[in-house]
Amino acid sequence: NKFEQLGLNESLLLAIKDLGFENPSEVQEKAIPALLEQNTDLVALAQTGTGKTAAFGFPLIQKIDAEDRSTQALILSPTRELCLQITNEIKQYSKYVKGLHTVAVYGGASITEQAREVKRGAQIIVATPGRMQDMINRGLVNIKNINYCILDEADEMLNMGFYDDIVSILSDTPDEKNTWLFSATMPAEVARIAKKFMANPVEITV
Ligand code: AMP
Repeated sequence: NKFEQLGLNESLLLAIKDLGFENPSEVQEKAIPALLEQNTDLVALAQTGTGKTAAFGFPLIQKIDAEDRSTQALILSPTRELCLQITNEIKQYSKYVKGLHTVAVYGGASITEQAREVKRGAQIIVATPGRMQDMINRGLVNIKNINYCILDEADEMLNMGFYDDIVSILSDTPDEKNTWLFSATMPAEVARIAKKFMANPVEITV
């Protein structure tokens, strides 16, 4: 199994086996060892359908401390649908990791219920930028100590007008965190975010 050679632990390998993934995709082969081995920022040019969710999800799950209930990672995505899809994938990938909780935070649903789920203890929050900003403004979430921030489909988020929200949300996170940015294209606004918030990122193109 080529996933073993990427450095993934037993609980992830078991979940991968259940899912029936036989071989890592190209973006997984490139991103997973880099993200597991070093604390680094990452810029990956990858389309949807390339397996990018697992490319950041596997190393993220392995690096989270599941015994610590505090929020350690924020994944930002452009739409409710993508937010729910990522949450669902992360939950499947982490099914053998005891105590790991992932919560989806998105507009158009009860903010009270989402806040309650976050408060119960969620190491990973998957959010759309607008609702995330709202939760921060209302003091319903604390991302001041996260170690990882993932920007998924960054070009789409910026196309949808989330530049200010993203800048504001990222400014609420610690400088020492690692940022992993995934985008299908690299327009000027995405490059601007990368330049503003990332240091010497590993670069991957698939
Ligand atoms: P994504 O690009 O992350 O949206 O993934 C596209 C689809 O491919 C998802 O349904 C994944 O469950 C699936 N997938 C991800 N990695 C693999 C893999 N290594 N082998 C087979 N299917 C995969």
